[in-house]
Amino acid sequence: MELDISEALRRPGETFPFRIQGFIEPQDVMGDTVTFDPVLMEGSFSLNDGKLHLKGRLATVAHGSCAMCLEAADYPVNLSFHEIFARKGDAQEEDDPLEETDRLAYDGPLLAVDQLALTLVILELPMRFLCREDCEGIEGFTQMNREADADQEELTMQHPFSALQQLLNKDQEV
Ligand SMILES: [Zn+2]
Repeated sequence: MELDISEALRRPGETFPFRIQGFIEPQDVMGDTVTFDPVLMEGSFSLNDGKLHLKGRLATVAHGSCAMCLEAADYPVNLSFHEIFARKGDAQEEDDPLEETDRLAYDGPLLAVDQLALTLVILELPMRFLCREDCEGIEGFTQMNREADADQEELTMQHPFSALQQLLNKDQEV
């Protein structure tokens, strides 16, 4: 996902609109694989005092599984951002050396925003996905049991007395 910022480099102080679409790789979030719809970023950028300002909105939909019932669960992400990129290799202000490592930087007319998009989206994700807010997970488990029952029925069909046999076995076990 790259943004062409050459106009801003040529004409500092002016603001230019942008709209780009990109992709985020599936991510492992708390042991669960989360996939994403194409990411849309739109807004404006401008170069001020050698720093590139990028602001706008980002939208995508994250697909995970419900923490309660394990069914598919979606989480729409809609966030606004305002990030400032320093020119790569510029002398840094020495007052905050910790900030250096995390600093966003631009280098040439193409600005890579993959890492930025990923970071913004990951920070926005919920601790856990839910298929719906009041999911209690019971339905999911009930459904699993039903599937197990269906298997049992199949066995019963194959052998008419097997169900009876199982009942007897169960009684013996108790
Ligand atoms: Zn659920």
